Amino acid sequence: MDKLNFINEELGKLKKSGLLINIRTIEGHQGAWITVDGKKALNLCSNNYLGLANDPEIKSAAQKAIENYGVGPAAVRTIAGTTTLHKELERKLALFKGVESAISFQSGFCANLAVIPTIVGKEDVVFSDELNHASIIDGCRLAKTRVVRYKHCNPEDLQSKIHAEKDASRKLIITDGVFSMEGDIAPLPEIVEIAEKYDAITMVDDAHGEGVLGRGGRGIVDHFNLHGKVDIEVGTMSKAFGVVGGYVAGTKILTDLLAQKGRPFLFSSAVTAADVAACIAVVDTLNKSDDLVKKLWSNTRFFQDRMKQIRFNIGNTKTPITPVMIGDARTARDFSQKLFEEGIFAQSIGYPTVPVGKARIRVMLSATHSEEDLTWAIGHFEKIGMALGIV
Ligand SMILES: *Cc1c(COP(=O)(O)O)cnc(C)c1O
Repeated sequence: MDKLNFINEELGKLKKSGLLINIRTIEGHQGAWITVDGKKALNLCSNNYLGLANDPEIKSAAQKAIENYGVGPAAVRTIAGTTTLHKELERKLALFKGVESAISFQSGFCANLAVIPTIVGKEDVVFSDELNHASIIDGCRLAKTRVVRYKHCNPEDLQSKIHAEKDASRKLIITDGVFSMEGDIAPLPEIVEIAEKYDAITMVDDAHGEGVLGRGGRGIVDHFNLHGKVDIEVGTMSKAFGVVGGYVAGTKILTDLLAQKGRPFLFSSAVTAADVAACIAVVDTLNKSDDLVKKLWSNTRFFQDRMKQIRFNIGNTKTPITPVMIGDARTARDFSQKLFEEGIFAQSIGYPTVPVGKARIRVMLSATHSEEDLTWAIGHFEKIGMALGIV
């Protein structure tokens, strides 16, 4: 087994540098309070922004779909046909996003792997924010396209880099809408302006903007009122939607081409009827009321204001994603461990998810939290922060 020794060495290195991820096990459903590794804890790290992952109406929509459609899709959509449910979801998503058409994928990750290689290839250039999500990076690798990284949320740098490549055959600018480790928002109006000047295609990955930004959670394009100005929107249904799945939204010709060429669409089975029905129910819920989105934002302001008062550095967040900056990866892990001992589930995040020396506790607010929950958690943050010399 000598030939596999390097695996042990790799794991040993991760452990030594404090970067070995401790994957905790959850029993039962999602919510503000969950059972983690056998212990009841306040959940401060899920992407279940609106609490829809365990919503009774969404669950019953999924149960009904299992009755009517069974549990599995039985093959990929191009070969065995697609269900009326998938079509209904895509129609409703397009309306919700205010675009002509949408096409669903198994996940947001798959949506990026499908759309980027469909749009660009070897002859083209992608301009990519340096903090873009891994699935965008991998999508570019699959496309074998040239990638020019511009400084994070920096339109001046984008402008000068795109100017240097102005004669490239096809130019695609890609940005996360909300950056998942920082919580800041892409300067989309400036990006769109630059794109127009250089005739570049624009693409935004709205994974953390869905259900969070814009009117009733319609996302970043709605937030900036840029309808019709962004060519490609990628979304996920595994975060605020509380289910699973991804999609690409834009023009009808874009989604038509993706149904012909998007490899995860062609060569991997679709999500199940239960998932799709649950996603449809989520869109219906968001269309009916913005109460959950409002509650998410009031919790966000409550938590972030108080954390700043105790002098925690929470970076440049503009959204419910709250990076509590620690710095050293091992200290961040200790912090997370101590929080867990007190009954608070908030994971530390280190390299390679964030740069070396920028380890943090990433707190995710949710509409499911009560102000009492948050006040109680903040008290423990303060106590542990003082003990570890962070505040
Ligand atoms: C989470 C995330 C994804 C992946 O979405 P999944 O549906 O979980 O695969 C893609 N892009 C961004 C920016 C994300 O934050």
